[in-house]
Amino acid sequence: VATVTFDGVSKLFPSHDKGEVVAAVSDLNLTIEEGKLVTLLGPSGCGKTTILRMLAGFETPTSGSIRLDDTDVTRRPVNSRGIGMVFQSYALFPHMSVRENVAYGLSVAGVAKADAGRRVDEVMELMQIGHYAKRAPNQLSGGQQQRVALARAVVTEPRVLLFDEPLSNLDAQLREQMRVDLRAIQQRLGITSLYVTHDQSEALAIADEIVVLKDGVIQQRGSAREVYRSPASSFVARFLGKANIVPGTVVASTAAGIVVDVDGQRARMTSDDLPQVAAGESVSCVLRPENVAFRTDPEGALTVEQVVFQGSYIEYHLRIAGAACTIIDHEYAHRGTLNIGDRLSIDLTNTPLWIVPADA
Ligand code: ADP
Ligand code: MG
Repeated sequence: VATVTFDGVSKLFPSHDKGEVVAAVSDLNLTIEEGKLVTLLGPSGCGKTTILRMLAGFETPTSGSIRLDDTDVTRRPVNSRGIGMVFQSYALFPHMSVRENVAYGLSVAGVAKADAGRRVDEVMELMQIGHYAKRAPNQLSGGQQQRVALARAVVTEPRVLLFDEPLSNLDAQLREQMRVDLRAIQQRLGITSLYVTHDQSEALAIADEIVVLKDGVIQQRGSAREVYRSPASSFVARFLGKANIVPGTVVASTAAGIVVDVDGQRARMTSDDLPQVAAGESVSCVLRPENVAFRTDPEGALTVEQVVFQGSYIEYHLRIAGAACTIIDHEYAHRGTLNIGDRLSIDLTNTPLWIVPADA
Protein backbone atom coordinates (compact mmCIF):
# COMPACT_ATOMS: atom_id res chain seq x y z
CA VAL A 1 0.00 0.00 0.00
CA ALA A 2 1.42 3.32 -1.07
CA THR A 3 0.86 7.05 -1.12
CA VAL A 4 0.37 8.28 -4.69
CA THR A 5 1.67 11.70 -5.75
CA PHE A 6 1.10 13.49 -9.05
CA ASP A 7 3.56 16.34 -9.28
CA GLY A 8 2.87 18.92 -12.00
CA VAL A 9 1.63 16.27 -14.43
CA SER A 10 0.46 17.33 -17.89
CA LYS A 11 -0.52 15.26 -20.89
CA LEU A 12 -0.84 16.62 -24.40
CA PHE A 13 -2.28 14.60 -27.28
CA PRO A 14 -2.00 15.48 -30.93
CA SER A 15 -5.44 16.55 -32.08
CA HIS A 16 -7.14 14.94 -35.08
CA ASP A 17 -7.76 18.22 -36.84
CA LYS A 18 -5.25 20.88 -37.86
CA GLY A 19 -2.29 19.28 -36.11
CA GLU A 20 -3.02 21.13 -32.89
CA VAL A 21 -2.60 19.57 -29.48
CA VAL A 22 -5.21 18.76 -26.85
CA ALA A 23 -4.25 19.29 -23.22
CA ALA A 24 -6.00 16.26 -21.73
CA VAL A 25 -4.47 16.98 -18.29
CA SER A 26 -2.86 20.26 -17.21
CA ASP A 27 -0.44 20.66 -14.31
CA LEU A 28 -2.07 18.08 -12.05
CA ASN A 29 -0.93 18.18 -8.44
CA LEU A 30 -2.62 15.52 -6.37
CA THR A 31 -1.75 13.32 -3.40
CA ILE A 32 -3.70 10.21 -2.44
CA GLU A 33 -2.82 9.22 1.10
CA GLU A 34 -2.12 5.60 1.90
CA GLY A 35 -5.32 3.54 2.15
CA LYS A 36 -7.64 6.32 1.03
CA LEU A 37 -10.13 6.24 -1.81
CA VAL A 38 -10.17 9.34 -3.98
CA THR A 39 -12.69 9.79 -6.76
CA LEU A 40 -12.04 11.78 -9.90
CA LEU A 41 -15.36 13.29 -10.89
CA GLY A 42 -16.04 15.22 -14.05
CA PRO A 43 -17.83 15.22 -17.40
CA SER A 44 -16.82 13.03 -20.30
CA GLY A 45 -13.55 14.16 -21.86
CA CYS A 46 -12.21 16.00 -18.78
CA GLY A 47 -9.13 13.76 -18.53
CA LYS A 48 -10.13 11.15 -15.94
CA THR A 49 -9.09 8.07 -17.89
CA THR A 50 -5.86 9.72 -19.01
CA ILE A 51 -4.91 10.31 -15.35
CA LEU A 52 -5.55 6.65 -14.51
CA ARG A 53 -3.64 5.46 -17.56
CA MET A 54 -0.61 7.55 -16.61
CA LEU A 55 -0.64 6.14 -13.09
CA ALA A 56 -0.96 2.60 -14.47
CA GLY A 57 1.82 3.19 -16.99
CA PHE A 58 -0.17 2.97 -20.25
CA GLU A 59 0.58 6.63 -21.01
CA THR A 60 3.66 8.68 -20.26
CA PRO A 61 3.13 12.24 -19.01
CA THR A 62 4.30 15.00 -21.34
CA SER A 63 5.74 16.69 -18.24
CA GLY A 64 5.74 16.23 -14.49
CA SER A 65 6.25 13.12 -12.39
CA ILE A 66 4.31 10.42 -10.57
CA ARG A 67 5.52 8.83 -7.35
CA LEU A 68 4.49 5.80 -5.31
CA ASP A 69 5.77 6.71 -1.84
CA ASP A 70 9.24 8.05 -2.60
CA THR A 71 9.78 6.09 -5.81
CA ASP A 72 9.47 7.90 -9.12
CA VAL A 73 7.44 5.57 -11.37
CA THR A 74 6.80 8.04 -14.20
CA ARG A 75 8.65 5.91 -16.73
CA ARG A 76 8.42 2.49 -15.17
CA PRO A 77 6.81 -0.32 -17.17
CA VAL A 78 3.20 -1.24 -16.37
CA ASN A 79 3.99 -4.59 -14.78
CA SER A 80 6.49 -3.29 -12.26
CA ARG A 81 4.21 -0.74 -10.60
CA GLY A 82 2.11 -3.04 -8.41
CA ILE A 83 -1.19 -1.59 -9.60
CA GLY A 84 -4.53 -3.41 -9.92
CA MET A 85 -7.24 -2.23 -12.28
CA VAL A 86 -10.99 -2.64 -12.64
CA PHE A 87 -12.74 -1.40 -15.78
CA GLN A 88 -16.30 -0.70 -16.84
CA SER A 89 -16.03 -3.56 -19.37
CA TYR A 90 -14.84 -6.15 -16.74
CA ALA A 91 -12.18 -7.33 -19.24
CA LEU A 92 -12.25 -10.93 -17.98
CA PHE A 93 -10.57 -13.68 -19.98
CA PRO A 94 -13.53 -15.39 -21.68
CA HIS A 95 -11.88 -18.78 -22.18
CA MET A 96 -10.89 -19.14 -18.51
CA SER A 97 -13.09 -20.14 -15.59
CA VAL A 98 -13.81 -17.70 -12.78
CA ARG A 99 -11.17 -19.34 -10.62
CA GLU A 100 -8.58 -19.26 -13.38
CA ASN A 101 -9.33 -15.59 -13.99
CA VAL A 102 -8.78 -14.78 -10.33
CA ALA A 103 -5.62 -16.90 -10.15
CA TYR A 104 -4.11 -15.45 -13.33
CA GLY A 105 -2.03 -12.67 -11.80
CA LEU A 106 -0.51 -15.01 -9.24
CA SER A 107 0.59 -17.56 -11.82
CA VAL A 108 2.14 -14.80 -13.94
CA ALA A 109 3.97 -13.61 -10.84
CA GLY A 110 5.22 -17.15 -10.26
CA VAL A 111 3.62 -17.60 -6.84
CA ALA A 112 3.87 -21.21 -5.64
CA LYS A 113 0.74 -23.24 -6.35
CA ALA A 114 -0.24 -24.01 -2.77
CA ASP A 115 0.14 -20.38 -1.66
CA ALA A 116 -1.67 -19.15 -4.74
CA GLY A 117 -4.54 -21.58 -4.17
CA ARG A 118 -5.00 -20.42 -0.61
CA ARG A 119 -4.98 -16.76 -1.63
CA VAL A 120 -7.45 -17.30 -4.47
CA ASP A 121 -9.82 -19.08 -2.08
CA GLU A 122 -9.60 -16.23 0.42
CA VAL A 123 -10.30 -13.55 -2.13
CA MET A 124 -13.15 -15.48 -3.76
CA GLU A 125 -14.68 -15.86 -0.31
CA LEU A 126 -14.30 -12.14 0.42
CA MET A 127 -15.92 -11.29 -2.92
CA GLN A 128 -18.67 -13.92 -2.46
CA ILE A 129 -17.94 -15.62 -5.77
CA GLY A 130 -16.78 -19.00 -4.42
CA HIS A 131 -19.77 -20.88 -5.76
CA TYR A 132 -19.17 -19.70 -9.35
CA ALA A 133 -15.56 -20.89 -9.39
CA LYS A 134 -15.95 -23.29 -12.30
CA ARG A 135 -18.19 -21.15 -14.47
CA ALA A 136 -17.12 -19.17 -17.50
CA PRO A 137 -17.48 -15.36 -17.26
CA ASN A 138 -20.29 -15.30 -19.83
CA GLN A 139 -22.38 -17.47 -17.50
CA LEU A 140 -22.41 -14.70 -14.88
CA SER A 141 -24.45 -11.53 -14.47
CA GLY A 142 -22.76 -8.15 -14.87
CA GLY A 143 -22.54 -7.67 -11.11
CA GLN A 144 -20.99 -11.11 -10.62
CA GLN A 145 -18.49 -10.47 -13.41
CA GLN A 146 -17.45 -7.22 -11.77
CA ARG A 147 -16.86 -9.05 -8.48
CA VAL A 148 -14.60 -11.48 -10.35
CA ALA A 149 -12.74 -8.55 -11.94
CA LEU A 150 -12.23 -6.99 -8.51
CA ALA A 151 -11.06 -10.33 -7.09
CA ARG A 152 -8.59 -10.66 -9.95
CA ALA A 153 -7.31 -7.15 -9.28
CA VAL A 154 -6.79 -7.55 -5.53
CA VAL A 155 -5.44 -11.10 -5.40
CA THR A 156 -1.91 -9.94 -6.20
CA GLU A 157 -2.07 -7.49 -3.28
CA PRO A 158 -1.44 -4.38 -5.36
CA ARG A 159 -0.13 -1.19 -3.78
CA VAL A 160 -2.78 0.85 -5.58
CA LEU A 161 -6.19 0.02 -7.09
CA LEU A 162 -7.59 1.90 -10.06
CA PHE A 163 -11.26 1.91 -11.01
CA ASP A 164 -12.48 3.35 -14.30
CA GLU A 165 -16.27 3.78 -14.14
CA PRO A 166 -16.55 0.19 -12.84
CA LEU A 167 -20.29 0.25 -12.21
CA SER A 168 -21.49 2.08 -15.32
CA ASN A 169 -22.69 -1.08 -17.06
CA LEU A 170 -24.87 -2.20 -14.16
CA ASP A 171 -28.50 -1.27 -13.63
CA ALA A 172 -29.36 1.36 -11.02
CA GLN A 173 -30.30 -0.88 -8.10
CA LEU A 174 -27.32 -3.18 -8.44
CA ARG A 175 -25.02 -0.21 -8.92
CA GLU A 176 -26.02 1.20 -5.54
CA GLN A 177 -25.51 -2.15 -3.82
CA MET A 178 -22.17 -2.72 -5.54
CA ARG A 179 -20.78 0.65 -4.50
CA VAL A 180 -21.51 -0.13 -0.88
CA ASP A 181 -19.85 -3.56 -1.22
CA LEU A 182 -16.92 -2.20 -3.13
CA ARG A 183 -16.30 0.50 -0.57
CA ALA A 184 -16.48 -2.04 2.26
CA ILE A 185 -13.94 -4.28 0.55
CA GLN A 186 -11.59 -1.38 -0.23
CA GLN A 187 -11.71 -0.25 3.40
CA ARG A 188 -11.19 -3.76 4.68
CA LEU A 189 -8.17 -4.31 2.45
CA GLY A 190 -6.95 -0.74 3.00
CA ILE A 191 -5.63 -0.37 -0.54
CA THR A 192 -4.98 3.16 -1.80
CA SER A 193 -7.54 3.69 -4.57
CA LEU A 194 -8.25 6.11 -7.38
CA TYR A 195 -11.82 5.81 -8.62
CA VAL A 196 -13.06 7.50 -11.77
CA THR A 197 -16.72 8.29 -12.30
CA HIS A 198 -18.95 10.83 -13.99
CA ASP A 199 -21.75 9.92 -11.56
CA GLN A 200 -21.95 12.47 -8.77
CA SER A 201 -24.00 10.34 -6.40
CA GLU A 202 -21.50 7.51 -6.77
CA ALA A 203 -18.66 9.90 -6.01
CA LEU A 204 -20.43 11.33 -2.96
CA ALA A 205 -21.26 7.86 -1.65
CA ILE A 206 -17.91 6.18 -2.01
CA ALA A 207 -15.10 8.69 -1.58
CA ASP A 208 -12.84 9.77 1.25
CA GLU A 209 -12.10 12.68 -1.01
CA ILE A 210 -13.54 14.01 -4.28
CA VAL A 211 -11.51 15.73 -6.96
CA VAL A 212 -13.70 17.63 -9.42
CA LEU A 213 -12.15 18.02 -12.87
CA LYS A 214 -13.00 20.11 -15.89
CA ASP A 215 -10.97 20.30 -19.09
CA GLY A 216 -8.01 18.56 -17.47
CA VAL A 217 -7.83 21.01 -14.56
CA ILE A 218 -8.79 20.43 -10.93
CA GLN A 219 -11.72 22.66 -9.98
CA GLN A 220 -11.93 21.63 -6.34
CA ARG A 221 -10.97 18.85 -4.00
CA GLY A 222 -12.30 17.97 -0.59
CA SER A 223 -14.56 15.62 1.32
CA ALA A 224 -17.96 14.88 -0.20
CA ARG A 225 -19.57 17.23 2.32
CA GLU A 226 -17.14 20.05 1.62
CA VAL A 227 -17.56 20.04 -2.13
CA TYR A 228 -21.32 19.64 -1.85
CA ARG A 229 -21.85 22.36 0.74
CA SER A 230 -19.06 24.74 -0.19
CA PRO A 231 -18.64 24.55 -3.97
CA ALA A 232 -15.84 26.67 -5.40
CA SER A 233 -17.80 27.57 -8.53
CA SER A 234 -21.19 27.23 -10.14
CA PHE A 235 -19.72 24.40 -12.25
CA VAL A 236 -18.85 22.39 -9.13
CA ALA A 237 -22.19 23.25 -7.52
CA ARG A 238 -24.09 22.01 -10.57
CA PHE A 239 -21.94 18.94 -11.08
CA LEU A 240 -22.56 17.78 -7.51
CA GLY A 241 -26.29 17.49 -7.55
CA LYS A 242 -29.03 19.97 -8.20
CA ALA A 243 -28.06 23.56 -7.54
CA ASN A 244 -30.04 26.74 -7.98
CA ILE A 245 -27.77 29.61 -8.93
CA VAL A 246 -29.60 32.85 -8.25
CA PRO A 247 -28.54 36.50 -8.30
CA GLY A 248 -28.47 38.43 -5.03
CA THR A 249 -27.30 41.72 -3.55
CA VAL A 250 -25.09 41.90 -0.47
CA VAL A 251 -26.87 43.64 2.41
CA ALA A 252 -24.15 43.30 5.03
CA SER A 253 -20.80 41.57 5.24
CA THR A 254 -19.21 40.87 8.62
CA ALA A 255 -16.95 38.21 10.10
CA ALA A 256 -20.07 36.47 11.41
CA GLY A 257 -21.59 36.06 7.97
CA ILE A 258 -22.81 37.66 4.80
CA VAL A 259 -26.44 38.69 4.51
CA VAL A 260 -27.74 38.66 0.96
CA ASP A 261 -30.98 39.95 -0.48
CA VAL A 262 -32.40 37.32 -2.84
CA ASP A 263 -35.67 38.28 -4.50
CA GLY A 264 -36.59 40.54 -1.59
CA GLN A 265 -35.66 38.00 1.08
CA ARG A 266 -32.73 37.83 3.44
CA ALA A 267 -30.52 34.75 3.34
CA ARG A 268 -27.21 34.23 5.08
CA MET A 269 -23.87 32.68 4.24
CA THR A 270 -21.72 31.51 7.14
CA SER A 271 -18.28 29.97 6.80
CA ASP A 272 -14.80 30.11 8.29
CA ASP A 273 -13.66 31.34 4.93
CA LEU A 274 -16.01 34.05 3.69
CA PRO A 275 -15.44 35.76 0.35
CA GLN A 276 -14.53 39.46 0.31
CA VAL A 277 -17.71 41.25 -0.72
CA ALA A 278 -19.11 44.67 0.12
CA ALA A 279 -22.65 45.85 0.83
CA GLY A 280 -24.44 46.65 -2.42
CA GLU A 281 -22.38 44.19 -4.47
CA SER A 282 -24.12 41.78 -6.86
CA VAL A 283 -23.30 38.11 -6.22
CA SER A 284 -24.18 34.63 -7.53
CA CYS A 285 -25.66 32.41 -4.84
CA VAL A 286 -26.11 28.65 -4.62
CA LEU A 287 -29.31 27.45 -3.00
CA ARG A 288 -29.72 23.67 -2.76
CA PRO A 289 -33.30 22.60 -3.63
CA GLU A 290 -33.71 20.58 -0.44
CA ASN A 291 -32.93 23.65 1.68
CA VAL A 292 -35.57 26.02 0.35
CA ALA A 293 -38.63 26.15 2.61
CA PHE A 294 -41.90 26.96 0.86
CA ARG A 295 -45.62 27.02 1.35
CA THR A 296 -48.69 27.14 -0.84
CA ASP A 297 -49.79 30.77 -1.02
CA PRO A 298 -52.42 32.09 -3.44
CA GLU A 299 -50.83 35.54 -2.98
CA GLY A 300 -47.28 34.19 -3.38
CA ALA A 301 -44.82 35.76 -5.77
CA LEU A 302 -43.68 32.49 -7.36
CA THR A 303 -45.52 30.28 -9.83
CA VAL A 304 -45.05 26.55 -10.40
CA GLU A 305 -43.93 26.07 -14.00
CA GLN A 306 -43.37 22.34 -14.02
CA VAL A 307 -43.98 19.41 -11.68
CA VAL A 308 -41.73 16.32 -11.76
CA PHE A 309 -42.68 13.25 -9.77
CA GLN A 310 -39.61 11.41 -8.43
CA GLY A 311 -41.20 8.85 -6.12
CA SER A 312 -39.64 9.72 -2.77
CA TYR A 313 -40.00 13.43 -3.52
CA ILE A 314 -41.56 15.91 -5.94
CA GLU A 315 -39.70 18.61 -7.82
CA TYR A 316 -41.25 21.96 -8.60
CA HIS A 317 -39.63 24.03 -11.32
CA LEU A 318 -40.03 27.78 -11.00
CA ARG A 319 -38.15 31.07 -11.17
CA ILE A 320 -36.45 32.82 -8.26
CA ALA A 321 -35.13 36.32 -9.08
CA GLY A 322 -35.44 35.42 -12.75
CA ALA A 323 -33.25 32.29 -12.51
CA ALA A 324 -34.63 28.85 -13.38
CA CYS A 325 -34.79 26.94 -10.09
CA THR A 326 -35.92 23.67 -8.61
CA ILE A 327 -37.28 23.11 -5.14
CA ILE A 328 -38.18 19.71 -3.78
CA ASP A 329 -40.72 18.33 -1.37
CA HIS A 330 -40.17 15.06 0.47
CA GLU A 331 -43.37 15.53 2.47
CA TYR A 332 -45.78 15.73 -0.43
CA ALA A 333 -47.68 12.66 0.72
CA HIS A 334 -48.84 14.65 3.80
CA ARG A 335 -48.99 18.11 2.31
CA GLY A 336 -50.53 17.34 -1.06
CA THR A 337 -49.02 18.42 -4.33
CA LEU A 338 -49.01 21.66 -6.25
CA ASN A 339 -49.95 21.92 -9.91
CA ILE A 340 -48.63 23.93 -12.79
CA GLY A 341 -49.75 27.54 -12.36
CA ASP A 342 -50.20 27.29 -8.56
CA ARG A 343 -48.64 30.09 -6.53
CA LEU A 344 -46.34 29.72 -3.58
CA SER A 345 -43.93 31.66 -1.44
CA ILE A 346 -40.51 30.65 -0.21
CA ASP A 347 -38.77 31.41 3.06
CA LEU A 348 -34.99 31.76 2.89
CA THR A 349 -34.49 32.77 6.54
CA ASN A 350 -32.93 29.43 7.46
CA THR A 351 -31.66 28.44 4.03
CA PRO A 352 -27.89 28.04 3.89
CA LEU A 353 -26.65 30.16 1.03
CA TRP A 354 -23.27 29.89 -0.68
CA ILE A 355 -21.72 32.65 -2.79
CA VAL A 356 -19.77 31.52 -5.87
CA PRO A 357 -17.78 33.66 -8.32
CA ALA A 358 -19.88 34.93 -11.22
CA ASP A 359 -19.43 32.80 -14.36
CA ALA A 360 -17.01 34.27 -16.85
P1 ADP B 1 -12.53 11.09 -19.66
O1 ADP B 1 -12.04 9.76 -19.21
O2 ADP B 1 -12.69 12.08 -18.54
O3 ADP B 1 -13.79 11.00 -20.48
P2 ADP B 1 -10.16 11.12 -21.34
O4 ADP B 1 -9.01 11.09 -20.40
O5 ADP B 1 -10.53 9.85 -22.00
O6 ADP B 1 -11.42 11.77 -20.61
O7 ADP B 1 -9.86 12.20 -22.47
C1 ADP B 1 -9.42 13.53 -22.20
C2 ADP B 1 -9.14 14.27 -23.50
O8 ADP B 1 -8.00 13.71 -24.15
C3 ADP B 1 -10.28 14.19 -24.50
O9 ADP B 1 -10.32 15.41 -25.20
C4 ADP B 1 -9.84 13.07 -25.42
O10 ADP B 1 -10.38 13.24 -26.72
C5 ADP B 1 -8.34 13.23 -25.43
N1 ADP B 1 -7.62 11.95 -25.63
C6 ADP B 1 -7.61 10.90 -24.77
N2 ADP B 1 -6.84 9.90 -25.24
C7 ADP B 1 -6.36 10.32 -26.44
C8 ADP B 1 -5.47 9.76 -27.43
N3 ADP B 1 -4.93 8.54 -27.26
N4 ADP B 1 -5.20 10.51 -28.53
C9 ADP B 1 -5.72 11.75 -28.70
N5 ADP B 1 -6.54 12.34 -27.81
C10 ADP B 1 -6.85 11.64 -26.68
MG1 MG C 1 -12.93 7.84 -19.37
